Amino acid sequence: MKCVEKYDFCMDTVVYQRVYGKYAEEAVDEATKKLHDLESILSLFQSGSDIHLINHQAGKNWVKVSQDTLNVLHLAKIISARTNGAFDVTIGCLSDYWRQLRKNQDKPDKKYIEFLLDLVTYQDIQINPNEKVVKLKRPGQQIDLGGIGKGYAGEKIVDIYQNYSVLSGFINLGGNAVLVGKPPLKKDWKVGIRNPFSNDGKIFGAVRVKNRSVVTSGGYERYYEKEGFKYHHILDPRTGFPAETEWQSVTVISESSSFADALSTAIFVLNQEETVRLIEKNPSVEVIMVSKSRKIGVTRNIEKNFVKLDQEMSIMMMG
Ligand code: ADP
Ligand code: MG
Repeated sequence: MKCVEKYDFCMDTVVYQRVYGKYAEEAVDEATKKLHDLESILSLFQSGSDIHLINHQAGKNWVKVSQDTLNVLHLAKIISARTNGAFDVTIGCLSDYWRQLRKNQDKPDKKYIEFLLDLVTYQDIQINPNEKVVKLKRPGQQIDLGGIGKGYAGEKIVDIYQNYSVLSGFINLGGNAVLVGKPPLKKDWKVGIRNPFSNDGKIFGAVRVKNRSVVTSGGYERYYEKEGFKYHHILDPRTGFPAETEWQSVTVISESSSFADALSTAIFVLNQEETVRLIEKNPSVEVIMVSKSRKIGVTRNIEKNFVKLDQEMSIMMMG
């Protein structure tokens, strides 16, 4: 069977596609184009993107947006409500502040963080789906889709693959893997999960999946250190500071890659007790967590499909 592979750089990350099928080439070409289109709509940084316009009109005007923007924002609000705001895309003003601090290697100002924290309120994203317009309620508010954009893109790419009758393939958007069908001649895809304590890409285990997304969030990839404290890129919307949780990395496996992406970011913010409660409320979701103390936590529904490869790490059951 024809197989097409492609590497690309998009959405601030390396993208790899491998697609099998008669129309694999066409599928990969259209998927690549869609990814770049989505980036130009959803990026916080590209002036003229829907998100850039919404942020600039915060507290002022409604902004006409594309259907994709409406879809992501709608999903983001649902997941925010489900996670009691541990996931909140209005984190933008704070992620912007932390980006500046990181650039200047500065220390955070607690008072200013408190001021910004008041602006982080997902309920203030106003959406009118009929008119296809969006508005942020208050000036200074900012949307940042860094925690869900790649997941949403993965979902759209799978739609494209299906339009080209692709029965087997996958796309990896910087740690967001979306698997279509099963590999040719094999029963399942086997997806390795990186050891969050290793710098050289070692894996500690793998999951066997079909038609699923496997998404990992961790604080180990983008961070800087100042006076012994690690500042990483996942923020706790309750404190305004980088999440100080027990997890070194969180992997979520789900049919929906947007959901997996957002939920992995959300769980990263939660402590063990809150994580267990969230899992109990969403029994279909499959999670693999690595704690700071190097224990692997897995939910019961993934247990039989998880293979541990690191002899030094032990497994504990979650939920
Ligand atoms: P990565 O981008 O490394 O795959 P994530 O999917 O976990 O990691 O997303 C982290 C990004 O999400 C941050 O860079 C920031 O843009 C955004 N973000 C940070 N904290 C939150 C949060 N609590 N809720 C929603 N988005 C967040
Ligand atoms: Mg995420």
